[in-house]
Amino acid sequence: MISAIIHGNEICGAFALDQLLASGFTVDRGRLILVFANTIAFLRFDPSRPYASRFVDEDMNRVWSVDLLEAPQQSVELARAREIRPFAESADYLLDLHSTSLPAPPMLLCGTHVKGLDFAQKMGYPSHIVADAGHAAGVRLRDFAAFGDATSAQIAMLVECGQHFDSNSPAVALNTIFAFLRAADMLDSVPKDVPDLPPPDTQCHIKVTDVVTTQSNRFAFTRNFQCFEKVAKGGTLIALDGTRKIVSPYDDCVLVMPTQQPVQGQTAVRLGRYVVK
Ligand SMILES: [Zn+2]
Repeated sequence: MISAIIHGNEICGAFALDQLLASGFTVDRGRLILVFANTIAFLRFDPSRPYASRFVDEDMNRVWSVDLLEAPQQSVELARAREIRPFAESADYLLDLHSTSLPAPPMLLCGTHVKGLDFAQKMGYPSHIVADAGHAAGVRLRDFAAFGDATSAQIAMLVECGQHFDSNSPAVALNTIFAFLRAADMLDSVPKDVPDLPPPDTQCHIKVTDVVTTQSNRFAFTRNFQCFEKVAKGGTLIALDGTRKIVSPYDDCVLVMPTQQPVQGQTAVRLGRYVVK
C-alpha cells in the first residue's frame, strides 16, 4: 500500500500517485493499493494559506491506535482513517508519502525495530534513515498495529520527500516508490519515463534517542537550527519551553526536523545520533 496526503497540504505524494495512475503503471508481482488519504483537507488547499490544509479537525497521522479508531470520537480524519484501516491491515508493506515544512534532505522514517531498518537499507534510497518511535501526541500510520510490532512481518516506511512545495519533491516521491516496490520484490525495473535521481552513495542512519514535546505555549529555539544540524557539545542550550531548558543530551547531537511553528503538546524536535556501522 502506498498512501499520500495523510497531511492535506503535502502534495508531492498526490502528484506521484497521479503520475503512476496516468501512466497505467502496474507492478510485476503482488497487488498494489494506492490511497489518497485526507482528500477533504487536500481539496481545501488555498495557495494564499498553504499550511492551513494540513488537516480539517485533527492531525490524521496521530490517530492510528486501535483504541482510538474503535472509540466513539468523531472527526473528519477519524472517519477517513476508519475507511482506510482494512486496506492498511491487509498490506504486507506500506509506504506513507510526506513532505516537510522546512527544507530538509529526503529521509525514511523506519521505526525502531530491526525489520524497518533492514528494509530501509534494502531500499537504498533516499539518503537519510531516521529510526524513531513517533510522537507523544498520537500514533502514526507508520506505527499502526502490526507495523509497529517487532514480531510481525508487516513493514511500514514513512518518507519525507523534501519541502512541501519544492518542485523536486514529487520526483523524490516517485523514486522512493520504485525503491520501495523493488525492495518488496514487487517490481523488477523502473519505468523509463521517471525522472531519474541518482541513488546516494551511502545512506546515513540516525537513531533518535529523545523526542522533545512542547509543554508550554512559549517554546522557542535559541537560534535557527537546520534539519540534521549537529550540536557539538552535550549540555548546550538549544531551546526554552517556557522556563524549561532543553539542552543537548550528549556530544554530536543531531537535530531532526526542528519545527518553526511549535504547538503545545506536539513534537518540537527529535534528538539523535548518527549510527556508524
Ligand atoms: Zn506529513
